[in-house]
Amino acid sequence: MIVKQIWTANNYRNFNYLIACAETGEALAVDPLDHEKCLAAAKDAGWQITQILNTHEHHDHTGGNDAVARATGAAILAHRNARDSIPGMQRGLGAGDLVKVGKTVELEVLDTPGHTMTHVCLRSHTDQPALFCGDTLFNAGAGNCHNGGHPSELYKTFSEQLERLPGSTRIYPGHDYIENNLKFTLDREPDNRDAADMLGRVAGHDPAAAFVTTLDVERTINTFFRLSSPTVIAKLREAFPDLPDNPDERTVFLKLRELRNKW
Ligand SMILES: [Zn+2]
Repeated sequence: MIVKQIWTANNYRNFNYLIACAETGEALAVDPLDHEKCLAAAKDAGWQITQILNTHEHHDHTGGNDAVARATGAAILAHRNARDSIPGMQRGLGAGDLVKVGKTVELEVLDTPGHTMTHVCLRSHTDQPALFCGDTLFNAGAGNCHNGGHPSELYKTFSEQLERLPGSTRIYPGHDYIENNLKFTLDREPDNRDAADMLGRVAGHDPAAAFVTTLDVERTINTFFRLSSPTVIAKLREAFPDLPDNPDERTVFLKLRELRNKW
């Protein structure tokens, strides 16, 4: 499996992806908003885009579908309940479905509600797994729930699915938000040395050559995976004096999501 992360350099800071089979040159385009960059990258590599996958229905993820489909004849895949919101969708996906690319690439569909209720992530069946996580999980952060999502569903997705993936899983999110997210982590957990070190490493970075984290790294720098950290809980109590003595992880997650909205 070859992964090409494409930095769009737009205001929304989107990452687009091409996932290619090394043997056949067939490629899957994930959320190819910047259709010109995606088509050019495929051409440069000698790949044929045969499928487009939308992680979810927001326009900054689907806006390039038409142009890529017209240029390549690629089929559009997305969550099976996104048919009404994604024009031209040809294959509806559910949990456990497989998306094959060429002969060698097999991606498993995770049904991951929270950012929206029709959001999928893809996980690769490779020696070192990879997760294409759209707007569900970001480097050092979690998706918002403003436009059709639900925070408690997002918590369930984190705790019941993402938390259980192997620590070596490489994380490929839909946007470059790492710098801002690390500042939020440090606001919530000022003694987090790993987050401070990572911020030093990525501050002012070139997102066209972004650092790719793993789930193990996220567990150290991402507040939304650090729900039992004593500092996170103590700081949260400053903002929410009614917080119970030993708050459950769901409560901590939801309060953090609430604070992040205002931050
Ligand atoms: Zn979105």
